[in-house]
Parts: sequence; C-alpha cells; structure tokens
Amino acid sequence: MSETATAVKPALTPKDFATDQEVRWCPGCGDYSILAQVQKIMPTLGIPKENIVIVSGIGCSSRFHII
Ligand code: SF4
Repeated sequence: MSETATAVKPALTPKDFATDQEVRWCPGCGDYSILAQVQKIMPTLGIPKENIVIVSGIGCSSRFHII
C-alpha cells in the first residue's frame, strides 16, 4: 500500500501580511486602521498568499504595502 504525502501549509497570521518596509503616513491617519484591519482579515479568508494581489492608487494610498 502506498501513501501520498500531502504538504499542509501552516495557517497564515497577520504577521504574514506585514512588511519590513517603513510605513509612512501622518500620525493618526486612518490608513493605519485600514492596514491593520486588512492584515487581520486576510489570514481568515483561506486564500493562499500567492493568489493575493493588492493594487493601490497614487498618493498616500500607494504606501499601502503589505506582505
Ligand atoms: S491620507 Fe496622507 S495626507 Fe492624509 S493623513 Fe493620511 S498620510 Fe496624511
């Protein structure tokens, strides 16, 4: 009898959607809250990281880098 090993990926956490890049928004900017909520919710969606794309606009929102 042969068994096939299936790799199980560890569950993602908010840290998997954090960056080592400096986030530069004004103190108190609402973008910090949006970023925190996105980092919180993304691991719960069950979507592999390699299937996620974040597209941001110009201006301050373009600093929305995660991962
Ligand atoms: S949107 Fe840009 S200019 Fe406005 S508070 Fe945030 S970082 Fe500052």
